[in-house]
Amino acid sequence: MDFQFSSQLELLRKSVREFAEGAIAPRVPQMEETDEVPWDLYREIAKQQYMGILVPKEFGGTDLGHLARTIMLEEVGRISAAMAMALQIFHLGTIPFVDFGNEAQKKKYLPPLAIGERLSTIAVTEATGGSDPTGIQTTAKIQGDSYILNGRKCFITHGHVADTITVMAKTGEGPKGFSAFIVERSFPGFKLGRKERKFGLHGCNTGEIVMENCLVPRENLLGNEGDGLRISMAAISEVGRAGMAGCGLGVINACLEASVKFANERILGGKPISQHQAIQWMISDIYMDLEASRLLSYRASWMRDQKMRCDVDMAMAKFYATEAAVRCAKKAVDIHGGYGYMMEYPVQRYYRDAEILIASAGTSEIMRIVMARKALTSK
Ligand SMILES: Cc1cc2nc3c(=O)[nH]c(=O)nc-3n(C[C@H](O)[C@H](O)[C@H](O)COP(=O)(O)OP(=O)(O)OC[C@H]3O[C@@H](n4cnc5c(N)ncnc54)[C@H](O)[C@@H]3O)c2cc1C
Repeated sequence: MDFQFSSQLELLRKSVREFAEGAIAPRVPQMEETDEVPWDLYREIAKQQYMGILVPKEFGGTDLGHLARTIMLEEVGRISAAMAMALQIFHLGTIPFVDFGNEAQKKKYLPPLAIGERLSTIAVTEATGGSDPTGIQTTAKIQGDSYILNGRKCFITHGHVADTITVMAKTGEGPKGFSAFIVERSFPGFKLGRKERKFGLHGCNTGEIVMENCLVPRENLLGNEGDGLRISMAAISEVGRAGMAGCGLGVINACLEASVKFANERILGGKPISQHQAIQWMISDIYMDLEASRLLSYRASWMRDQKMRCDVDMAMAKFYATEAAVRCAKKAVDIHGGYGYMMEYPVQRYYRDAEILIASAGTSEIMRIVMARKALTSK
């Protein structure tokens, strides 16, 4: 067992940290204020080749892999969880093409996605199908050389921003009654629904997409008819959950740094509050949560790189890192006293951003169901 990162991964962490501190940090106040997507920043991020981190080199990506991606999301999330979430969804929207696309689909769609020329997302959730995706009602009916899609997807990260979307729709009944389609925003019948107002992750768009007799060419079916649940669940459980864990790691890093700085600088009764054991305990809890979240997340991502089965390990990493992010953000706010509630200090943002990481890509209850299923059947 080797707990040492390669020099390539150490270098990646250093370069992402420098980029995030230099290019992303100055944009956070504006994103917080306006909740607008910072397009020019995406172009800068694209130049860093972060979007194509899971795309094979032959299609224009860097193919650095899942562990590298987790480190990258951790470093971006340390500065902005919203930006880490945006990156995570690009990868999640792209991975179905990498894993299930045919040669023609890969050639057409992957190169522009790998360099951030086009943006992607995945659209599964509907009002009738969140934790239980089989409750979705969007339909796809074949008509000549096209499928006609009808339905409304909610809570779609970058739904209003993405050019290319993996959409899950019903083509039949039962678990094999779902199929996945590559939908472009320019297709006739594709429309935008409402944009959500969120209490965190400002600058990362979330909204509805609507398909009204949306015409999708037959060749845009991913895999075969009936593969939809398998394709979307593989993406969400192995890439989406790893991504949310990466965002959580970023938030915990930020909480630790802000708490240590404040505790050392805040003088009360002639000494810094860091000398109080009560404050030290809170800081040690955050520190421990960071290391435990890292170990679970790095290991699950490494397993995915080794092509090992990792759905339960991802659920564990996602559960732990996102729940820990909320716990740590609460402690960071508490350590700051009244200042923690003031917009001037960033810990209130960490708190708001952390909470939403729990629901995205499967709630903690669903993660517990995945873990319990394994634990109860393990010999
Ligand atoms: C910021 C954000 C971004 C998102 N981005 C995307 C995206 O890009 N694409 C996409 O497709 N979706 C996206 N989602 C949707 C997300 O995956 C769902 O919100 C999530 O799966 C939960 O579904 P729900 O919100 O409908 O909650 P519900 O399923 O209605 O759950 C409500 C509550 O019931 C609990 N519950 C449900 N079923 C069970 C059960 N069997 N046992 C015990 N408890 C249960 C849940 O844990 C939760 O506490 C996003 C959500 C958010 C908040």
